[in-house]
Amino acid sequence: MNRDTLKKMDTELKEVVHYTLDIHGTTHNMNDYIGKQIKISWKGKIICHCGKEKKKVFRSGFCYNCYWTLPEASQSIFKPELCTAHLGEEERDLEWERKFQLAPHYVYLANSSGIKVGITRKSQGVVRWMDQGASQAILLAEVPNRRYSGDIEVSLKRFVDDVTNWRKMLTGEPQSVDLVKLKEELSEHVPEELQQYILPNNTVTEISYPVTKYPTKIKSVTLDKNPILEGELLGIKGQYLLLDEDRVFNIRSHEGYIADFSYQSIEKQGLLF
Ligand SMILES: [Zn+2]
Repeated sequence: MNRDTLKKMDTELKEVVHYTLDIHGTTHNMNDYIGKQIKISWKGKIICHCGKEKKKVFRSGFCYNCYWTLPEASQSIFKPELCTAHLGEEERDLEWERKFQLAPHYVYLANSSGIKVGITRKSQGVVRWMDQGASQAILLAEVPNRRYSGDIEVSLKRFVDDVTNWRKMLTGEPQSVDLVKLKEELSEHVPEELQQYILPNNTVTEISYPVTKYPTKIKSVTLDKNPILEGELLGIKGQYLLLDEDRVFNIRSHEGYIADFSYQSIEKQGLLF
């Protein structure tokens, strides 16, 4: 990872989620900047996965060539039910796909803007929920490979969403839901041969975010349109920075952007004038 590019914030589950941003060799405790002015300025260049400097991304953070060639951007990344490494069938790079797909995965239910079903590598777990801005989550199953998690997800998509409505997620806390009961109900619809992977443990993880004020009418801002982004940080949820004037900034969709990050306390700024 390039030290001068934006990347997603690291998260730690505490009473409220603790966020840190690493850039230019400095680790910023983002929670401390809430109520202060922050500034992100972009220099018009992006570093892609291939390590090359580009002017813009083609899709999902990849340049044109990477998107069409890398295993990290293959079809099964976006649709886990298309994974074939467990059958020894290559999509783009069987060795990479084996490593990525033949690892334990979780299927979970999360409440971020309504209920969704999702999958994640076992090593990710709660990190994934925090990145999505979920307020509650429960593990539904643990399977030995990514394909099986995709198969379970597909079987449950008829009943619950599989995507987060980020606009809704950023407007406030969702209604609390009885995830244990929902898990029991949905478990009946898991295909017979995958029932064995349903987890008996029904622990519900509750997650709170450092937000002082939610936007009322969301304005999503990007560095492409606003190369210099400045304002008061009002909160952080998922991988979004909530700024004044109802602005929200998705830091994750700007991974690879060569940028400067700085902050200033409001009091200090007052002294300057
Ligand atoms: Zn590339």
